[in-house]
Amino acid sequence: MSVRTPLVVAVDGPSGSGKSSVSRQVAAHLGLAYLDTGAMYRAAAWWCREQGVDLADTDAVTQAVHAMVLELDLNPRFPVFRVAGHDVGTAIRASAISEVVSQVATNLDVRADLGRRQRAVIELECTPEGFSEGRGVVVEGRDITTVVAPDADVRLLLTASEEARLARRARELHGTDDAAAVAATRDQVVGRDAKDSTVVEFRTAADGVVTVDSSGLDLEQTVRAVLDLIESRTGE
Ligand code: C5P
Repeated sequence: MSVRTPLVVAVDGPSGSGKSSVSRQVAAHLGLAYLDTGAMYRAAAWWCREQGVDLADTDAVTQAVHAMVLELDLNPRFPVFRVAGHDVGTAIRASAISEVVSQVATNLDVRADLGRRQRAVIELECTPEGFSEGRGVVVEGRDITTVVAPDADVRLLLTASEEARLARRARELHGTDDAAAVAATRDQVVGRDAKDSTVVEFRTAADGVVTVDSSGLDLEQTVRAVLDLIESRTGE
């Protein structure tokens, strides 16, 4: 498959829509960099806790995030996030972080700060100095198609029914999607999305954004659907 480069692909969607796994595989397939902006918000929450910052103190959170030294490796096969030199890849996935990340992500000064860093990464990835050597980047999150990269070459909203999203996250977190596992996952999926949607719109597609519904598709089929869409929009 051959696509015009540099190529910027923006992917938004709710928790459990599969956007991280799909975006990673799409980036790897196309030789693009991969930027998981949710991991940046998670890293910010981890850093604030590490610094003993009260997450209810918005000014203190803003200042701590502003001072956060965040280094990213955008290789989709081995993405790495380092905060002040610590590899936080595992720590930021802990439930303790999932439970508080929205508190940091609903701080508008934090959003402005991380949004600026995300735009700088996108710009760099469109030059030969970036990881992708100028091929471009797949960026995924909640506000990428609308706020961070509204001019991206391809913008898509990856959705799935609430049932499918809950079952996926339950399998990821508990290894099963039985009733107890789904119930234990509900707050992390539905509760977190409700909090997040107070500051960003990621449930309905904005003008020019294509919706891909993965409810009835497995990972491989969803990746294929997204690759086909990218090719139809930017293929040579
Ligand atoms: O995608 P993931 O679940 O890792 O995102 C973690 C959190 O980061 C979200 O629940 C949301 O609070 C925040 N986020 C955001 N804007 C983005 C990406 C993530 O607010 N672009």
